[in-house]
Amino acid sequence: MIRKIGVVGAGPMGSGIAHVCSLAEFEVHLIDIDADAIRWALDTIDHNMGRQVQKGRVTTEEKSAAQARISTGSGVEELSDCDLVVEAATEDEDVKRSIFKALVPHLKENAIVASNTSSISITRLAATTDRPERFIGMHFMNPVPVMKLIEIIRGIATNEETYKLMRDLAITLGKTPAVSEDFPAFIVNRILLPMVNEAVYTLYEGVGSVTAIDTAMRLGANHPMGPLELADFIGLDTCLNVMNVLYDGLADSKYRPCPLLVKYVEAGWVGRKVGRGFYDYSGDEPTPTR
Ligand code: NAD
Repeated sequence: MIRKIGVVGAGPMGSGIAHVCSLAEFEVHLIDIDADAIRWALDTIDHNMGRQVQKGRVTTEEKSAAQARISTGSGVEELSDCDLVVEAATEDEDVKRSIFKALVPHLKENAIVASNTSSISITRLAATTDRPERFIGMHFMNPVPVMKLIEIIRGIATNEETYKLMRDLAITLGKTPAVSEDFPAFIVNRILLPMVNEAVYTLYEGVGSVTAIDTAMRLGANHPMGPLELADFIGLDTCLNVMNVLYDGLADSKYRPCPLLVKYVEAGWVGRKVGRGFYDYSGDEPTPTR
C-alpha cells in the first residue's frame, strides 16, 4: 500500500512527478540538494496546477489540497517514512549510485525504490541497493502532468509484486503504463532518438533544409512537431547522450551519432533551453540556423 512518496531531485521531472502524485492524493516529500531547485519546483507546480484550474480540469480546492500535501527538504534521511521513493536526480550514474547508497539505510523495510532514468540500466542501479527485487524503472515523460505514458522497466531482479504495484500506481496517476525490458534507452527513446539522429543526417548530407525536413515530417508523417524542432525541445545534449548510450550499449554502427549533432553540442547550441539549436529562439518566431 503506497501512501507517501519521496521524490529525489526537483528539476523538471521531479517537480512534475510531485505534481501528479500530490493531485492523486499521495503525500509527497520532494528533496533536492539545491534550494533554488526546490523554489523553482514549487513555483512551477503552482503555475502548472493554475493552468489546470483555468482549463477546468482541477478545482481550486483540489489544487490547494494537493499543494498542501507536498513537503520539501534536502536530505535522503527525510524519506524514512516513504512507501516509495522515485529518484529523478541528474542523469549521471555516479550521482544516482551515491543517492541510493545514502538512501537505503534510512528506508522502511518494504519501501520500493524507482528510478526515472532515461538511459541507465535499471539492473545495474538496482544492484547498488539492498533491495533489487523492490527496485524498478518508472520512466515518466516530459512534461509529466501532460504526457500520458509511463514506461515501466523491470530489472532482472524486480519481483512481480513490485511490478504490479507500480503498474497500478501509474493507472492511479491517470497514466497508461507500457512495460519495457531493461535494454538501452528502453522503448520510446530507442525508437524516437534514432529518428531524430536520422533527421540530423538528412540535414548534414544536404538532402533537405531545416524547414524542409520539419515540414516534411509534420505534414507527410503527421508528426505534431518536426524532428529538428523536437531535438531542440528535448535538448541536443540529451539527444547525443541517448545516441551514445544506444551506440555503446548495443554496439551497432546504425546508432552512431551524426557528426553535425556532435558539432552543435560542442558549440553549446543545445536547443531551446539556451535559445539556439537547429532554430534560433531570440526573435518572435524561431528561425532556422542552417
Ligand atoms: P535535471 O538535471 O534538470 O534536474 C535534476 C535535479 O536533481 C537538479 O535540481 C539537481 O540539483 C538534483 N540533484 C542532483 N543530485 C542530487 C542529490 N544528490 N540529491 C537530491 N537532488 C539532487 O534533470 P531532469 O530533466 O529533471 O531529469 C531527471 C531525471 O529524469 C534524469 O534521470 C533524466 O534522465 C530523467 N528524464 C528526463 C526527461 C526530460 O525530458 N528532461 C524525461 C524523462 C526522464
